[in-house]
Formats: sequence, C-alpha cells, structure tokens
Amino acid sequence: MVTGAPATMLDRREELTPMLAQYVEVAERYDDAIVLFRVGDFYKAFCEAADEVARVCELTRIEREDSTGTYTACGIPVDNAPKYLKRLLDAEYRVAVADQVEDPEEASGLVERAVTQVLTPGTVVEEELLAEGSNTYVACVASEAEGTEASARTGSGATREDEDQNDPAYGVAYVDVSTGECAVTAGDAAAVDEELARIDPAELLVAPGVDPAVVDGADCMRTERDPETFDPEAARGVLDRYADPDRFDAAERVAAGALLSYAEYTQGDDGPLEYVRRVRRYDPRRSLRLDATALRGLELFENHVGSGRTLFDTLDETRSALGRRRLRAWLRRPLVDREAIEARHDAVAAFAERTLAREAVRDALSAAYDLERLAGRISRGRANARDLRSLYDTLAAVPDIREAIGGVDALAEVRGDLDPLDDLRELIDEAVVEEPPQEITEGGVIRAGYDGELDEIRTTAREGREWIANLEERERERTGIDNLEVGYTQVHGYYIEVTNGQLEKVPDDYTRRQTLKNSERFYTPELKRREDEILGAEERADALEYELFADLRDRVADESDRIGALADAVARVDALAALATAAVQRDYVRPEMGADGIALDRSRHPVVEETEPEFVPNDAALPRGTVALITGPNMSGKSTYMRQVALAVVLAQAGSFVPADAARLPVVDRVFTRVGASDDIAGGESTFMREMRELTDVLHDATGDSLVLLDEVGRGTSTADGRAIARAAVEFLHDETGATTLFATHYHELTDLADEYERVVNRHFAATERDGVRGSEAPASQPETPRVSGDEVTFLHRIREGAASSSYGVEVAELAGVPESVVARAHDLVAADRDRDEGEPTVDAGSGSGSGSAGATPQRTLDEISTNGHGHGDDGGDAPSADPEPPAVRDDAVADLLADLLDHPLAETTPLEALNALHEYQRRAEEAANADDAGERA
Ligand code: ADP
Ligand code: MG
Repeated sequence: MVTGAPATMLDRREELTPMLAQYVEVAERYDDAIVLFRVGDFYKAFCEAADEVARVCELTRIEREDSTGTYTACGIPVDNAPKYLKRLLDAEYRVAVADQVEDPEEASGLVERAVTQVLTPGTVVEEELLAEGSNTYVACVASEAEGTEASARTGSGATREDEDQNDPAYGVAYVDVSTGECAVTAGDAAAVDEELARIDPAELLVAPGVDPAVVDGADCMRTERDPETFDPEAARGVLDRYADPDRFDAAERVAAGALLSYAEYTQGDDGPLEYVRRVRRYDPRRSLRLDATALRGLELFENHVGSGRTLFDTLDETRSALGRRRLRAWLRRPLVDREAIEARHDAVAAFAERTLAREAVRDALSAAYDLERLAGRISRGRANARDLRSLYDTLAAVPDIREAIGGVDALAEVRGDLDPLDDLRELIDEAVVEEPPQEITEGGVIRAGYDGELDEIRTTAREGREWIANLEERERERTGIDNLEVGYTQVHGYYIEVTNGQLEKVPDDYTRRQTLKNSERFYTPELKRREDEILGAEERADALEYELFADLRDRVADESDRIGALADAVARVDALAALATAAVQRDYVRPEMGADGIALDRSRHPVVEETEPEFVPNDAALPRGTVALITGPNMSGKSTYMRQVALAVVLAQAGSFVPADAARLPVVDRVFTRVGASDDIAGGESTFMREMRELTDVLHDATGDSLVLLDEVGRGTSTADGRAIARAAVEFLHDETGATTLFATHYHELTDLADEYERVVNRHFAATERDGVRGSEAPASQPETPRVSGDEVTFLHRIREGAASSSYGVEVAELAGVPESVVARAHDLVAADRDRDEGEPTVDAGSGSGSGSAGATPQRTLDEISTNGHGHGDDGGDAPSADPEPPAVRDDAVADLLADLLDHPLAETTPLEALNALHEYQRRAEEAANADDAGERA
C-alpha cells in the first residue's frame, strides 16, 4: 500500500509548483493516509497516491506536465465522492481530505488548504459510508504494563494451568464513532481473541508491548499510533474527559484512553466527543460466551456454505436501524441471567399475543430515523435542518408506540423509558420549517414567529420587495411610458428599463445605469436605497438564521443523554417486536428456562427449515452432563441436528422463542462448536493441528454448564489415531468437565462407550427405513416409507435412540446400486469385523496404526465408502483375504480405486488438490463401470 508523501515528488520538492508543494507538505504530515486535495469540483490525488486511487476506484489517471516535469493525477468528482471514498475504505485505506479553508476569491495567491477529515474504515461517521443496520467499531488492545509482554496463550495448551487465577493481562476497548457507543473490558489472551471475534472491529489499534499473537485472530485493518498515546498517564488524561479513570484497571485505561484519543483525532481533534456519553465497563462472563469458532460454526452472522442465510437474517424482523443493531447485539451476547432472560421472554410473549399492538408499534418504528447517529451528527455540529426534522419525526412517533403498548405489564419498563421528549420536539417544530433546504447557510430554515429580530428583518425585506413589485405600475403612471419595465440582474441589481423611442419621457430623478441596443436602464435614489435595504436584510437574515440554527442545534446536543436513553428504548422495543414477529410467523415456542438439561420436542433448525420444505423435526432429551454420540451416514442430518440444539440455546438466552413444539432449557455459560478438519475446507485451513488446538480449548474451558458440539472431530488424521483421540475426548468430557455434549462421529466403535459410561448415550440417524428395522438397537416406532427412488437415496433425517447399524454404509451402497454380490460380501466383512471388535472393545492407537499400514485394501468394508473414506475398520488389515474365487477384472479396478480413495491423505490435501483428486477418482470409477457394461454385453 502506497501512502504518505509521494517519493517522486520529495526528490524535487524545491522545484514544485506551489500547489504540489502544499500537497507534499500535507502528505508528509498524514503519511499513513491517501491525501485528497480539493481542487475545483474534484478531490485530487497526485503521483503514487493517484495511482492507488485510480486502481481502487477504477478512475482514469491523468499524466500532467508542467515546468517541473511530469506527474500523474487522479480526481474524484466531489458530487460522487461517497461512492469512491467507500471503495477506498473497503480496500482498507485511510483517507485524509484536505479542503479549501480560505475563500478562493479572498486568497492572495495559493488557497490555504487543511485536512478537515481523516476517514478510516473503523471511524467513519458519514451516513453514506456506513452500513445501516450494523455497528462500525474501532477497537484497541493494550497490555497491563507497557513493555512487559504477557505471553500469548491463545490456543496453545502449554501454559494454561494457572489461567483461571491469572489477573487479567489485557484491556480491550471499542467505540462506534458514529453512535458514541463505547465499552471496555479486560481479560487474558484467550479472552482478547474471543472479544475481538464478537466485536468484529473494522480497525484495530494495538499498544506496543502486546504480543502480536494475541491479536492474530482479528481480521481487520491495523492502525499504528504514536507510542506516546499508549502512555499510561497520557491515556488516563484522555479517558478522564469521558469517565472516571479510577473505575478501570490499568490495561483498560490504556486501551480506552488511547482509543478515544484516536477517535478524537479522526474527528478533527477539536476536543472530546460529547456524544460518547459513557464508557461502559463489562465482563464477558456475564453473557453466554461464544468464541470465534462458535460464531462461525453456528453461522449466526456469516454464512459459509449453503443457503447464504444466517440466523440473524432469519430472525431480523426489525423495522429500524436501531433495532437491527440491537438484535445483532443480543445474538452476539446472549444473557446468562435467568431473570433477565425471562423478562425478555415475557416481553416477546406480550407482543406475540397482541397482533394489533405489535403491528402498530412496527408501523410507528418504520418512521424512526437512526436516533443514535442523528444524535452523533448533532453533537459533532454536522447536522443540518433536515436532520433536526428527522429527529422531530422520530420523536413524533414515540407517543404512538407508547399508546400501543399501554397497559401491558411485561412492556411497562420499556414503555417507561420511551420518553417522547415533548419539550425537544416542540422546540424543533417551533424553530424549523417543515421542509427545510439541505444547506443551512442560505436561509429558509427558521420558521416565522421563532425570533423577533429575524421576523423584523424579513418584514423589511418583504416590504422592500413589495415596493419594487409595485414600482413598475407606479412609474408607468407617473411618466406616461406604458412599456416601462422593472427588472433585476445579478450584476447590476434592480433597474428601470425604457425603450429608445420613449427616452424623452424619462424624468429627472432617473440615473442611467446601463445602455443596451434598443433601450436604456435607469435607477432612482429611492430604488437604490430600497435595493440596499433588501439585499442587506436578506444577507442579515441568512446569517441570523444560521446563528439561530446553530444555537438550536447546540441546545439539542445538550440533550444527547435523553436522546440516547430514548434511542436505547426504541432499539429494545424494535428488537422485542421483531422477535415476537419471528416467533409468530415461524411458529416458535416460548422456552421454559432453568431446566436441568435440554429437552426439546420436535425441534427444528431455524435456518435450514426455511429452505428445506420437508424439514423433519426431531426431539432432543439431554439431561445435564449427557454425552450423546450421534452416528449415521453422511448427509443424514447429524450436523444440522446438533446445530439446531445449540441454536435453540442461543436463541432462548438472547430472549427469543425457539423453533420447537416445546422447549425446556438450562442456562448455559458457553457454547463450543468444533468441526472436524476435513469438514471445514471452506475455512481454508484444513489442518489437523488446528482441529486439535481447538479441541484442547474445549477440553480445558468447558464447564458443567457448557454445551459442546463436536462434529466429526478426529477426522483429520489416520483412522486409528482419530478414533483414539475421539474416545479419549469423550471420556474426558464425561468424567472431568461434565459438559452436555453432542458428538457426531463416524467412528462407530465409540458407541460402545454407552455401556461403560453412565451419561453417554447413543443416537443415530437412519439412512432408510430398512436400516431402522435392521438396526440392532431400536426398531422404528412408526412405519416410514423409504424415500428411495431408482438408485437415489433419500434420508429420513429422523433421530432415533441407540447407535446406527454399523452396516449402514453397506445399506447405502446397496441402495445406490452396487452389485448384489459385492453387497453380500460387504455384509459378511462387517459382521466379521464386529465380532473381532467385540473381542477387543478398547481401541489402542498404536496397534491400530501398525496393522493398518500393512493391510491389503480389498478387506475394507464398503460402509467406509459412505463415511468419506474414514470409516471404522482401519485396523482390519488382519481380516482374512481367503476368497475362494479370484475377483473379476472390474472388481480389481474397483478394489484399487477404493484402496486409493481410502488411503487418500485428506489432512495434507488442499481444497484444490481434493477437487483434482476427486476428478481423477470419478474418471476411474467411470472406467470401471464401462468395463462392467462391456462384460455384460459380452
Ligand atoms: P450430516 O452431518 O449427517 O452429514 P447434515 O446435517 O449436513 O448431515 O445434513 C445434510 C442435509 O440434509 C442438509 O443440508 C439438509 O438440507 C438436510 N437435512 C438435515 N437435517 C434435516 C431434517 N431434519 N429434515 C430435512 N432435511 C434435513
Ligand atoms: Mg456433518
């Protein structure tokens, strides 16, 4: 990224034209930004900066030549500036906008320019540059004692032992400069990582002394600041302008102080930002903790594969930007206080029961402007008269909302907070006309009757204009010139025009002003006096109006506390009404909280059910501390099921109803999700190392109040190792942490853990009805029609008690049309395998991997095909290969193909290589199939 003073210009700075010299000077001072210079109707960048602007904005670069040589320039049209500035910010550039700070007409020589705005991705406040329904945060991480590097423990299992007792080592602060929301917390390295994932800042400041590994997970622009701004005393000084510094600990003070000093700098450095009303200090443990992996895995705000929809999209029935941001915040930080959760449920229930009230509130909210950002603009002195009218319109909607929810107990609190600010609303309405112009310096803003002096000036101007309007008539009569005309030009002002033929009738008091081809223009002393009076009055009126407006804006700004409190209440009402709307429209049920375990009747996945017309509801009964092993073939619904259980928990604690017929839920402290590496190719980093690191975090951090989702964990390594790790993890979760766990696994052997451990249970997804019937544990309770057509397998997506029949893979193979003899042979092999396994119930990783490498491939069972080539039985190398008859030619080809497929080292395969490999396997399969056809024809 090229920013700062253009090197090509510095070399010859002595020779530069005055404007370019000025540019270089500014660019040197703002050396981390692209400097844009206001020149006429353009914001211009020069030299290297011009190249960047041209590239990012797709604008034309111009070669310029002057006495000093050639250089490039690129201009952003001022009228279209927001569009291009947004592109620069999205590309993670800072932009310093230098405006003319001197009237060009009054300047002697070069017009003085100064940077009036520094735009950065995390600190923009311009409405056109901001996303409407979400926050834009800039965050800052500082460590307790500058210079003493606290060791990063994120994700590494090495130094975790004393973590819980550790004093918080880092401070994390964030601010939304457009709304003034500012908060700070402290914690260890892992907490920093987690908080940054939740805050999701657009820009990050990192204090010197913070180990870079701590902030590694944050995927956003880094901003360097002068080390002095992180000095504890300097930071304390800045923070003191906003809050009592002693309320915070050392690291928090540095983080918040340095951050606010940066925020001030980006807003022009003229004093504290009044609308940052408070610096909230919070404890992340006071909300349901969702780390980066959980936020991702549950697709709360981002979708990675599939429908493109997220939980937030599904739930977002808000009507205002305030409500939309609030709903996001609720999902991002669900509650852990049972009373607070139930209070939200009460409110949602009240709205759900009252369709009319709900719709009335939502209609009223549709008229609400973004109060927080309005208040910010008003405080920054950037609001125009239209903004104040928007504030008025929003305030005017508040009584309707209050009325709609009057008398409803569950909504009494929020109703109480919905102060319509009558005084403010009346003040604005008295002062500002209903449809004011965009500009606030050209008059037409203030209502008549608001200010005596303004009214007087306006009367003078009006009377003057009336006098002039009647002048033509009067003068025609007086002079007898019946085609005499009165007119006005910008340059000459008012005039009386007489055609050449009538000139002899012109009276003595006319003075010549201008001679035209066919006529002469005159003025009279009285006309001149009136003209001066009108123009003077208008000028004074405009100036006075601006003064009155600025004064009014300041008075409104003084009320930003009350506006902020109202904004908060409006946001809550909108979010509650949205949750109720979602609940009614999508048939959600109110969860009963505080249960000793999870009990869901006919629960659904809120996002998948939207796109899956025949979504099959499933029950979940998981007493506290249960470890449920979930087996079943690929695509049978394991992952969906686990996520829908977790989403029910998240939704309930966010205050929402949940997609189920009935729900009893505990209050969970954390939700963990871990997806086996080979399932996470979309993440780009499909390494076994990462999978294991994440598993370590879970095992270390989960408590008896946590919900843990493990989806095919252990998959990124050899079967024997993976299976051993999976087994050990289950044992640990059961014995040590006691976390309620859902573990989807393709290691079928793990299901015998249910016999050994009290709280380990087996659940499975049947592939088809036949599987359900044949499955050893539990027969299907009701008749089900297998949804199988031709050689296509359709899954029932219905969860059942017990483990899946270990031969489900063979079933699928059979249904998919694999030749009968092969299926029969596979069944035999599976049976043999099971017998042998029963002889040695505990897996020994060492022996498994040893014999596995020696194994001849044809002995692998076909059920492994349907479990992604990592089915059980890897240690089946000792199975007999005593087939009485040699396999046919095509069977050899198939066996080879299977062998290669099964041995494919997934953990070391990049997504692209996987695609190529798949292509090759398909080609070979086709070849084998063709050989098959040929054989039959022969
Ligand atoms: P697995 O994890 O067992 O491989 P998934 O949970 O990924 O299976 O589900 C595979 C597909 O099946 C999903 O994309 C979804 O469309 C569909 N599906 C999952 N569960 C259900 C269900 N309960 N009802 C209907 N369709 C489902
Ligand atoms: Mg899955």
